[in-house]
Amino acid sequence: MLNNNAYIINNHENGVKKFEKKRNITCIICPQGCNLEVWYNENNEVKEIKGYSCKRGLEYGWNESTNPVRMLTTTIQIDGGKLPVVPVKSNKPLPKDLLFECMNVIRKVQLKAPVRAGEVVIKNILNTGVDIVTTRDM
Ligand code: SF4
Repeated sequence: MLNNNAYIINNHENGVKKFEKKRNITCIICPQGCNLEVWYNENNEVKEIKGYSCKRGLEYGWNESTNPVRMLTTTIQIDGGKLPVVPVKSNKPLPKDLLFECMNVIRKVQLKAPVRAGEVVIKNILNTGVDIVTTRDM
């Protein structure tokens, strides 16, 4: 077993040993939660996706295997507000492997009240084209 629930499978086809890797993903697009199987070739490229019940599931499996993204929601410290922090979110999904680095950037920011909901407080974080915006007035 590899990371991310991935398995290396050695199939024997016509007496020839064949490399295959499979990863299981639960589709989270709707409550049905289909179990997707993502099959890779020896170059670690997605070869086939099985187990989906609709086109949206196929698209989810493809994106999740090739370029996983997540919305980021967190808080930023603020001076002079009613609370010590203000909630913020990314205005678009961010690459999953950059979330930790984005949090390191966000953690260093200190805002000053007042701020308005929807205000851009970090523009183009890590050159991703994604902004971090406040989600409430403070
Ligand atoms: S594959 Fe389609 S039906 Fe299955 S969980 Fe995803 S969206 Fe729902």
